[in-house]
Amino acid sequence: MQLMDKLTGLCKRRGFVFPNADIYSGLAGFWDYGPLGVELARNIEAFWWDYMVRRRDNVVGLDSACIGPEAVWVASGHVGAFNDALIDDKNSKERFRIDQLQYQSEDDAEKAEVFTLQWLGENQSLSGQEAETAFWDALKGHIGYYPNNPNTGKPSRFTVPRQFNLMFKQQIGATGEGAQTGYLRAETCQPIFVDFESTRIGSRSKVPFGIAQIGKAFRNEINPRNFLFRAREFTQMEMEFFVRPDEVASQTGDKSTMDWYDYWLEQRMSYYKALRVPDHRLKIAPHPPEKLAHYAKAACDIQFEFPFGWGELEGVHHRGDYDLRQHQQHSGKNLSYYDDEAEAALVASGMDKAEARKLATYLPVCIETSVGQGRTFLALLAAAYDEDLQETQHEGKEADVRIVLRFHPRIAPVKAAVFPLSKKLSGEGSASYALYRELIDAGLTAEFDDAGSIGKRYRRQDEIGTPWCITYDFESETDSAVTIRDRDSLAQDRVAINDVPDLLLSKLRSA
Ligand code: ATP
Repeated sequence: MQLMDKLTGLCKRRGFVFPNADIYSGLAGFWDYGPLGVELARNIEAFWWDYMVRRRDNVVGLDSACIGPEAVWVASGHVGAFNDALIDDKNSKERFRIDQLQYQSEDDAEKAEVFTLQWLGENQSLSGQEAETAFWDALKGHIGYYPNNPNTGKPSRFTVPRQFNLMFKQQIGATGEGAQTGYLRAETCQPIFVDFESTRIGSRSKVPFGIAQIGKAFRNEINPRNFLFRAREFTQMEMEFFVRPDEVASQTGDKSTMDWYDYWLEQRMSYYKALRVPDHRLKIAPHPPEKLAHYAKAACDIQFEFPFGWGELEGVHHRGDYDLRQHQQHSGKNLSYYDDEAEAALVASGMDKAEARKLATYLPVCIETSVGQGRTFLALLAAAYDEDLQETQHEGKEADVRIVLRFHPRIAPVKAAVFPLSKKLSGEGSASYALYRELIDAGLTAEFDDAGSIGKRYRRQDEIGTPWCITYDFESETDSAVTIRDRDSLAQDRVAINDVPDLLLSKLRSA
C-alpha cells in the first residue's frame, strides 16, 4: 500500500482526521479533526507559538476575525488578482488548474501558470474556438510542447483557461440597503497589516518587532487534493516582522532587510530541527526573480518531501513595505512609524534634525514566515510513520508489523498510557487509576487502558505515537513501583510511582 493511503487510513481508523460531512458523502477540501487530531493539531500550534511568540521579547500575538470587509481584500490585491487559471478536459470532463496538467518538469508547470495568467490578461477580446487554438498554440510556443492530462498521461482536448478568484465572498447583514460584501480571509496575514497600528501601540512595540497569528484561512481551491495538503479551509501560522527600511538601516549601522530575511529563514530551519523533521526531507527553494511579486525583494519555499513528492510546507517572504502602503492608501490612515531611536542615531552622526526626522518616519519593511498547520500535520505524520518488525520478533511471536508514530514527545497527542496488568488491579478506586489521574493533574494528556493483552495495548499506543507506557503489575502493590516502557528504545525502567509525574515532565522538557 502507498504511504499516503496508509496515513489517511490510520487517520480515519484512529480518529485523527476524517472527511467533513462524511455521512452526506463529504465536501471536497474540508476535513474534521477527531479526538487525537485535535490534540496533535493543538500541540503543533503550541510548539509554533512557543517558538515564534512566547519565547521572544519582540514578537506579539493577534487573533483577528475570519471575515473582513471588501475594502481590506481590495487593498491587498486579492479581489483583483487572487486568481487561478482553470481548464476543463472536454473528453473526461475533469477540471484542473493549469499548472496541474502533466508537464515535463515542475519548472514548466510554473512557467505555464505565469504565462497563462498573463495571456488571459492580454487576450480578453478572443473567444470560442479562436481563443482555444490561439492559447494552446501560444503555450506550446512558450514551453515547447502541449501538456497532457495528468491522470492518463495522454494528450486531450482542453478548454481555454478561465480566471477563477479563490476568495469566498460573503454577504454580511440582511439583503437590501444595509447589506455589505465581505470575504472569508484568504490568509491570516492581511489582518495583521490592518491591525498594525492598534497592535503596535497596545503592546508598546518598537521596530524591529513582529506580530503573529494562528487561525483559519479559506481558499476556494479548484482542485483540492493530497489530503490536508490542499484544503479549502485550513489553519495558517504566520508571523510578520517589521524592520527599518534599508535607507535608514544603512545609516544607523543596523541589519539590512536582507539580513533579517536570512535571519528568519535560519530561524525557521532551526524550528524544524527542534521539531525533529529529518534534514534530508527538507529543502529551501528560492523563488527565481521572474516569479517574485513586483514589490518583493526575495522569497523562498521551505519544501518537504511528502509521500506524493516535494511540496511547499512554508513560505518565507521579503514583502517590502507593500502591504502597509496599500492599506495606508486605501484606508486613508497614516500607518507610518516614527522611529525616535533612529532619529537620535542619525542626529548623533551629524545629520540635520529635520532631515533625520524625515528619514526616521517611515513605513516599516516586512519579512513574513507563513506555514500551514495542516501541511505540518501531514509532514509530521509522514516523517513519524514507521513499521517495525523488531519487537514482535524479539517477543518470539510470528513476525507482525508494529506501526509506530515516532512523534517528538511534545507533539504526541497522548503523552502516557497507564496499563493495570489485570482487571483486579483496575477500577476507579485502584492505585493504577490514581496514577493516571495524577498524570492528568500534572498537565499530561494520558490514557487509561485495561482492555486486552499488554501486547495489544502497546500496539494501540504505538500506533498513535504515545512515548511512554506504564504498566502497573502485581508487584506494584508491594514495591510501589511501575514499569515505564519507552516507545523508541523499548527500554523498560522500574520507577517509584510517586516519581512518575515529575520524571515524565522532565523527560518532556528535555525532549
Ligand atoms: P501553493 O502554491 O501550494 O498553493 P501558496 O504559495 O499559495 O501555496 P501561501 O499563500 O504562501 O501558499 O500560504 C502559506 C502557507 O499556507 C503555505 O506554505 C501552506 O503551508 C499553507 N497553505 C496554502 N494553501 C493551502 C491549502 N489550500 N491547504 C492547506 N494549506 C495551505
